[in-house]
Amino acid sequence: MPFRALIGHRRTLDLLSRSIAGGSLPPSVIFSGPEGVGKRLVALSVAQALNCTEIQRVAIAAGDEFPVDACGQCAACKRIARGVHPDVLVVAPGETGSIKIEQVRDALDRAMYRPFEGRRRVTIIDEAHALIPGAQNALLKTLEEPPSLSVFILVTSQPDALLPTVRSRCSQIRFGRLSSADVAAVLERDHKYPKREALAVAAASDGSVGRALHEQAEEFSEARANVEALLRSTRGRSDARTRLERAKDLVKGGGATAASERDYLGLRLQTLSSLARDLSLLASHANPDLLANADLRDELNALAKSYDGERAIGLFAAVGRAQDALDRNVSPKVVADWLALQV
Ligand SMILES: [Zn+2]
Repeated sequence: MPFRALIGHRRTLDLLSRSIAGGSLPPSVIFSGPEGVGKRLVALSVAQALNCTEIQRVAIAAGDEFPVDACGQCAACKRIARGVHPDVLVVAPGETGSIKIEQVRDALDRAMYRPFEGRRRVTIIDEAHALIPGAQNALLKTLEEPPSLSVFILVTSQPDALLPTVRSRCSQIRFGRLSSADVAAVLERDHKYPKREALAVAAASDGSVGRALHEQAEEFSEARANVEALLRSTRGRSDARTRLERAKDLVKGGGATAASERDYLGLRLQTLSSLARDLSLLASHANPDLLANADLRDELNALAKSYDGERAIGLFAAVGRAQDALDRNVSPKVVADWLALQV
């Protein structure tokens, strides 16, 4: 993504663009700052600005524009964004959660060569705090004297976890938190959140897009667990008392205000609707790859024995009516009770 398309970090981006324009970008840099604010994305933008074949230059006097920026459209820019440019390597922790010495040696070997097709070789080490000490030591000599056309960017939320010898060989660029408005703008533009939801989630994100997405994902899986439990306990057409008991789970964590209770139940209705859709897909023997909740395939298969075609469709319709009622300001508790008796 070109600098001009990034949201937030204006001063930092300006500094980076100016140093690229003036040929003064340090060859070994640490990007430090909170998690989820876009440090790795900025590192990739730097790689693009260094290797774009349609580079955009603007006279510095032109004001707010970045003096050098990538086009974002040429083959080089696209390949960098997709992670397949031969001169731009991203090293990240493997399954063990650490970056091993072999990964670093491999990256160093590649950094020794002149760029294949771009102007600069860029090695981005993401979550650099995950470098094991041996791997950090293997980097020292190269960070001290990088090959002439190579740039190393170490991205980390925990710069203090890097050896002092590594830190002392790098310039450090510090990233701050994003404003809530910036987080909301990213959620809306890049993750397709509706505006109202983006603003609400951003307000609780502590300036981190990563955190906003993570918490949203946790909230979603909790909601889904609630409705799955409801379906499991009602699949045997259990008595009304059990059902009403389960209905409480759909509203009880909703918090103090009527609006938050409504949002809480709303999210549960949304996930229930998605499960109901999957159950009717299973009932019609559709391709299981079409399941929205593919990770719950086993659980859905078990439920599908009770929620056969007609019952799944009835469930789907009931959720729709419950959503309508909630939109019409019917009390969340009443809606939840009604729904629990229908499923
Ligand atoms: Zn380009």
